[in-house]
This record gives sequence, C-alpha cells and structure tokens, in this order.
Amino acid sequence: MTTKTRKFKTEVSELLDLVINSLYSKKEVFLRELISNASDAIDRARFESLTDNSQANDEPYKIIITPNKEAKTLVVADNGIGMSLQEVEDNIGTVASSGTRKFLKAMKDKANAPELIGQFGVGFYAAFMVADEVELKTRKRGESAVTWISDGKESYRVEEISEDIPHGTEITLHIREDMTEFLDPWTIREIVRKYSDYIQYPIVLMGDPSIKKDTDKKDTEKDKGEPETLNSMKAIWKRSKDETTDDDLNNFYKHIAHDSENPLSTIRVSAEGATEFSALLFIPTIAPFDMYHANAKQGLHLYARNVFIGDDIKELLPRYLSFVRGVVESSDLPLNVSREMLQDDAVIRRIRKVLVGKIISNIEDIKKNRAEDFAKFNRQFGRMIKEGVQGDWENHDKLKELISFPSTLSDDETKPVSLREYVDRMPSSQKEIYYISADTFSTAKSSPILEVFARHGYEVLFFIDPIDEFVAQRLTEYDGRKLRAADRGELDLDGSEKKKNAEGKPELTEADKEFKPLTDYLSERFKDDIKTVRLSSRLTDSASCLVADEYGYSAHMERVLKAFNEDVPKSLRIMELNPNHPVTRKMLELASADISSESLADYADLLLGQARLAEGTPLENPSRFNKLVSKLMVV
Ligand code: ADP
Repeated sequence: MTTKTRKFKTEVSELLDLVINSLYSKKEVFLRELISNASDAIDRARFESLTDNSQANDEPYKIIITPNKEAKTLVVADNGIGMSLQEVEDNIGTVASSGTRKFLKAMKDKANAPELIGQFGVGFYAAFMVADEVELKTRKRGESAVTWISDGKESYRVEEISEDIPHGTEITLHIREDMTEFLDPWTIREIVRKYSDYIQYPIVLMGDPSIKKDTDKKDTEKDKGEPETLNSMKAIWKRSKDETTDDDLNNFYKHIAHDSENPLSTIRVSAEGATEFSALLFIPTIAPFDMYHANAKQGLHLYARNVFIGDDIKELLPRYLSFVRGVVESSDLPLNVSREMLQDDAVIRRIRKVLVGKIISNIEDIKKNRAEDFAKFNRQFGRMIKEGVQGDWENHDKLKELISFPSTLSDDETKPVSLREYVDRMPSSQKEIYYISADTFSTAKSSPILEVFARHGYEVLFFIDPIDEFVAQRLTEYDGRKLRAADRGELDLDGSEKKKNAEGKPELTEADKEFKPLTDYLSERFKDDIKTVRLSSRLTDSASCLVADEYGYSAHMERVLKAFNEDVPKSLRIMELNPNHPVTRKMLELASADISSESLADYADLLLGQARLAEGTPLENPSRFNKLVSKLMVV
C-alpha cells in the first residue's frame, strides 16, 4: 500500500484558511454540504444500478449520521457511489482549482458570503469550519478502499487500504473544541430539517454510543436510543401548496442553489396532458456568480419517476434563463435516459416550452405587481432578458416588454425606462425611438449628439451594455416606431429635409457653400479617418461630432465587435460641424484666408480629438493632442 502525503495547492490552503477563520458565516451549512454530496453519491449509484444490469438494484440507500460526544466525532456515511484513489485525489485532494480560485476571488470582493461555498464546487471543505481534522474512507465498486485524512492546514494524506468495506463513503469530522454544539442530536435534527428534509433518501441519526445506557439524565434519554430518520423524504415539488410553507420552499431553494438568500420568486408548474410533469422553479435574488461564464453550472435538476437523472441539465432551459434554479420531474421519460438522449428528446422540448412560458409570465407578474422586486430583477438579470429578446424569436414580443434602458431623463443607471414608458411619453411630433450607444452612462449623457434632441424635448435611450447593440439589430421597431441610432446617418428632426438635385443628392444650402473651404480642408486633412465632413443639424453647444453613416457601425458597436472578434473592418466616420459655433467660424476664417496656416492645422486636430473623446473613442495620437492643448493654454 502506498501512503502519500501531499501538500495542498496554494489556493486550497488559502481557501481552507478562509473557511477555518470565517467568523461570521453560518457554520451549520457544513452539514448541508456533506449531506448534499452523500445524496448526489447515492443518486449516482442508483442511476448506475439502473443502467448497468451487473449492479445490484435499489439497495436500501441511506445517509447515516453518528455523533459521539466523548470522542468528539461526527460521522456522515453513505452507501453511494464512492470514490477510487484517483477520484479522491482529483475531487478532494487538489480540488478543481478553478472553483477554488473563483471562490477566493468572490470572497475577496466581499460580494458573497462564505456560506455560498457550495456554489463553487468546493462544499466538502466546509467541513473544516467545524472540524480540526477530517478523515474520509471510501470505496467504489471494483476498486480498493481509500482513506484520506487532513487537518486542513497544509497537507493531506491519502492511501489505498485493503480493508473490505462496502461501497460508499464515510466522513469522520473531529469536531473543534468550540463547535461541540454540532454533536448535539437536537442541533443535528434542526439542521437536517431545515436544509435537507426533501432529500430522497433517509437521513438516519444514530444514537450517541458514548452516552451510557444507565445514565439517568432525562434530556439525553432520547439521544441514546434507536436510529431515527430525520427527514420526511417527500419530494417538495410533489407536495400540494397547502403542504408547503414559504420556509420549506426557501430552504429547498437554498439547498439546490447553495444560496444564502431567499429566492426572489417561486414558480410551481404542474402539467397534465400530452406531457406530464411537475416542476418547482426559483428566480434567485442575486445572480449566480458565474452566470456569464461559458461553462457555468446552469440548468435544472431532472428526475424521471423519482429517479435522479442529473443536475445541470442545460436542455431544459434556453441559455438566457440559465439563472433559474429548480427541479423538474416527469413520468414520461425513460429511467435510463442518457444525457446525449436529452439533447434531442421530444418530451424535453415540450417541457422546455412550458417552462419558458411559465417563467416569462412569472416575470411579467413581478413587473406588474412588485415594482421594487422587478427593479432588483432587472439589475441582476436584465441583460439575460435582452439576450432573450435577441435570440428567442418565439417569445420576442413578450420579452421586449420586460427590458429597459437608462435614458436622457434618468439621473443614473438605476432607473431605466421600458420601451412602453418611452413611447407613452413621446411628444406627438416625435416619430421614432432614439438611442445612443456608449461605454458608460456618463459618456452617453454628455455626448454632443444629444444636443439636438434636448432642443426638441425628445428622450434618447442609452445603450450602454454591449448586449444592447445586438438587441438593436433584432429589435428594429417597437409599437410601430422604428428604433434609430442617434449617431447614425443624417438627422431630420426639424422636418426641413434638404432638396435633392437631379442625381438624388441633397442640394447644398447657403451655409454648406459658405463652409466649403473648411469642409474641403478637413476632408483632405483627415482623408484616412473620415469619410466626409458636413454641417450638422445635431449640435447646439459643441463645435463638432462624429457619426456613422446610415449603414455603418457606431463607434461603440465597433468596439463591442472588436471585443468579440479580432477582425472588424475600420469603418470611416462622418464629421459633423456646428456652423454656429465660434470655433468653426474662426476656423472658416483661417481656411478662407490661408489654407496652409499652422493654427488651422492645430485647430483641426484638436477638433477631431475632442469629437473622439466625446464619443469615448481613444485618441490616435494623445501626445500630439496634449501638446496642442498646452500650446493653447499659454497663448
Ligand atoms: P461539489 O459537490 O460541488 O462538486 P465538493 O467539494 O462538495 O464539491 O465535492 C467535490 C467532489 O467530491 C464531488 O463532486 C464528488 O465527486 C466528490 N465527493 C464528495 N463527497 C462525496 C461522497 N460522499 N461520495 C462520493 N463522492 C463524493
């Protein structure tokens, strides 16, 4: 037999240190995590026995908890799938360090509480919140038994042993001096009822062997007795409404989501007819930490006729609803359904359709009846719903009523406006819905492009989330009104459309003619960056701005696309000048007098620099810009 002593990876040590010293967390969640692991292990053993005929069927599966006050140990044992040496090393020893790293980061950001530990796939380590040593003994069918032991400080010892134990896992916690309350049967009962009542397998509390039979203390009388099953085992999603309290539902949610907050909303689904199934779904209050990660844990737990098929079943919900947590159970699925089969299963597709409908109507309900909660929802999941607007064509019309954007009328980002509200308060002269794209609220708010809209009293939506650009591509109109980028193409808010000449091009106005020396000069000077220079109807206070042409990408979209794929063709922008601004007037004078004037060149570069800064585009040559500004400052 080989005994190996291994050092924990640095991150694991850091994590353990954090867990051991976390003063404020709810220590009791350690038991929830261990029971949840035991239950998963039994689920897998049971599933394997159903799909592999060589394995014994349906044993009396159970989870056994044995406290021993004298030895100060708490043992949690299961007859589940167990682990091989390699699996112990991979799962318990080194620990998927990506989860560990994410957990550490989340803790450092102080965004989350340590009791969320289970969300990060490192729940086992919660044992060290209450124990100063943890021993694990496990065996998988067809493999040697393995022991693992650690004080949770620097290293662990792992070895294969020849003992012939039944398959399953036994975890012995050497309870810390200050944590002995967790050896109390009363405490254990409470915790199990609170977090693990609906676990499908009996959770059996054994009498404490260290309590002598002849003791005459009354309150220990009950604790030394017969094994006692602590949980009701009744699947909570099958209980009727009257049989479940809000507490039951909240605790069940906390169990499956490894969350410490109550859910924002609970959705019960019970479908009969073509496809029979029931579901219990939850919208979290706080978004799962990994919601946007490509390989985020997502999806629902699936049961077929009481048999656990798997968690993380992505097929049950579209990606944009992956934050929804819960359980689905159907009697229409075969027990030996494999994950591959789920991908193209008609039953799953029908279930998914119903679930999506129910979730959307629940969100509609929150919007209608719980304004404050809807605001919370939007902050956490608004972006996901926008993803739905863009990708879920079937529900597009409902989803677009749920999204919102900050606007020129918002003081900050926290009170966005829905499209309905926007349209309802449009002045009658306004024909289209306007939006401007920018990286941040403040860049959008201070954009010179908004000046003309302010003059007309038109509200402009701020598209400041990268997803908004994609929404705009799909959502071309709302309530019969076109969505239009404020910074694209020619604007005609005044209805003073330019006369067209014989070739269909707009005729030059007097002002256009007057400014020709300057516009020609600038067009030539910036010919590599700017497509045309023209006079603007957009500007009141600023001298110039950059816009995209009708079909070009906005500056923001260009940046967004670059972030997603490397190769975006550079689209030339249009420079618009405010003919009533002293700066452009002065430049016109210079251009008319002497086209080779140095000041004219300086001003031109400053003007373009300012226009770029205003739309949040980095300057091509910041040092020249700075020099020019300094030069102006000492004139
Ligand atoms: P998670 O359960 O979220 O993956 P944990 O740190 O709690 O994270 O457990 C890590 C892994 O260790 C589990 O995924 C599982 O493979 C294994 N494991 C933990 N407890 C048991 C057990 N009682 N029986 C079998 N495997 C277990």
